[in-house]
Amino acid sequence: MLVFKIAFWMNTVLQVVIRMPFGMSTRSRKKAEQHVSLTENILLMFLTIATGILPLIYSVTNWLDFANYALPAWMGWMGVVIMACSLFVFWRSHYDLKANWSPSLELYEEHTLITDGIYRYIRHPMYASLLMANIAQILLIQNWIAGPISIIMFILFYTFRSQAEEKMMIEKFGDPYREYRKATGGLLPKL
Ligand code: SAH
Repeated sequence: MLVFKIAFWMNTVLQVVIRMPFGMSTRSRKKAEQHVSLTENILLMFLTIATGILPLIYSVTNWLDFANYALPAWMGWMGVVIMACSLFVFWRSHYDLKANWSPSLELYEEHTLITDGIYRYIRHPMYASLLMANIAQILLIQNWIAGPISIIMFILFYTFRSQAEEKMMIEKFGDPYREYRKATGGLLPKL
């Protein structure tokens, strides 16, 4: 249904809009360290193809129609709700991380460890929001090539990125981050 495609693309646009002011606020900050690896860049490229390029081809051409599937309408609407929750968590994590946010693994000269707001419960709310968006993609982009593949790409990316990120944070903050890691969950709050 067209409405589900629109919901999917609205999420992409709103993610850009939400991120813009935070991206601008980090521009003047001096970077102390950058940990960018080839593996991460390759995984990120596959993720971009799966969450952007393939859904775009699905939305504007009929090239992928042979791989379409049809879910009941209520599942599509569930996708819309999950997407909305994902956007809220996406905004909230940027809001709490403030100028410590960076698109790749970086530390600023005056980087502070954030352990409050949504970070009080989970260490990776931004990645949790992306996981939710990937789940919603399965329900909104009803095509085997443009829909579910992205979640596989995301899991590969998340596994690699979160390990590298936590290693970097431990090297920078030491015991406070270790304690923080003990007290919180990664994508879901600790019970
Ligand atoms: N993994 C987090 C942040 C993603 S943005 C999330 O999913 O919400 C990635 C950058 O955030 C990293 O380069 C790191 O410098 C920074 N970062 C991650 N966790 C942080 C924290 N608790 N406090 C401060 N900066 C953090």
